[in-house]
Amino acid sequence: MTLLLLSTGILGCNESNNKTEIITENTPAVKSSKIKVVTTFLPVYLFTKAVTGDVADVEILVPPGTDIHDYQATPDNVKAIATANVLVKNGLGLEAFLTGTVKNAQNSKLVEIDASKSIKVINDISPVEETKDKDHDHDHKHEHAAGNPHIWLDPVFAKQQVINIRDGLITADPANKTTYESNAAAYIQELDKLNNEFQQTLQKTPNCTFITFHDAFPYMAKRYNLKQMAVVEIPEDQLSPADVQNAINAVKKYKVKALFSEPGIDNKLLTSLAQDLQLTVYPLNSLENGEKTPQYYFQAMKDNLKNLATGCK
Ligand SMILES: [Zn+2]
Repeated sequence: MTLLLLSTGILGCNESNNKTEIITENTPAVKSSKIKVVTTFLPVYLFTKAVTGDVADVEILVPPGTDIHDYQATPDNVKAIATANVLVKNGLGLEAFLTGTVKNAQNSKLVEIDASKSIKVINDISPVEETKDKDHDHDHKHEHAAGNPHIWLDPVFAKQQVINIRDGLITADPANKTTYESNAAAYIQELDKLNNEFQQTLQKTPNCTFITFHDAFPYMAKRYNLKQMAVVEIPEDQLSPADVQNAINAVKKYKVKALFSEPGIDNKLLTSLAQDLQLTVYPLNSLENGEKTPQYYFQAMKDNLKNLATGCK
């Protein structure tokens, strides 16, 4: 690294004294000069990729389709972190698997970016009748020890996450500062637009109360004056008879407008529950799974807005 810095200086203004040395050392380094950034899961990958564009190599540790909430690290994850310049995480205790993994990677030069920096978290779990399942309760407290982590589903907090990622990348790789700044600015502009769309659309249905089966939307609900009631918080969980009872109780007790479930989840119990309650189940995407292009965030969030607006009508 020192040699590299020295040699650029020498190349610019000095004589060709140790030229051979410079060429052999410098050429490969310039070609692979992109920094390597590892991100934990999809939303953080999307934001990071939006900021870097092509000037950095961005990888994802938890591939879409794998549940981030109880993810176990693999040896490949340790290797990826060991050779990375930057690690970007959502934070708020979501990536519990990182604790031992980062230690095992023994990468003293690693720059860690916590994308939740300076975001005010919601500590309370959404109000609903508690599930009686003890194991589930335990998971619950463990996962949300640092507050509910689903901040990326609020476009305003997503903007702060992009800013945190941008600033961290500039610290780690100042050479690409202007690229990071202009890419982030473009993405933030789209986030502002998205926030406006959410505001304008959802102000027509204030206090809309809805039930989710994944406690992922309290920030979105708070931002746009809706009320989320989470019955269970992990979509992969099969609904238990107790969950069904909770949902029925909540629908009776509060004026619930709609049920929202993770897209692609086909749960017979949920379908029949909705029929019994005469409510429609709409998809609501937590973005923990999906496509690995930065624009996917906007596609999925616009679908969410459409479904929220329809469900809350
Ligand atoms: Zn989640």
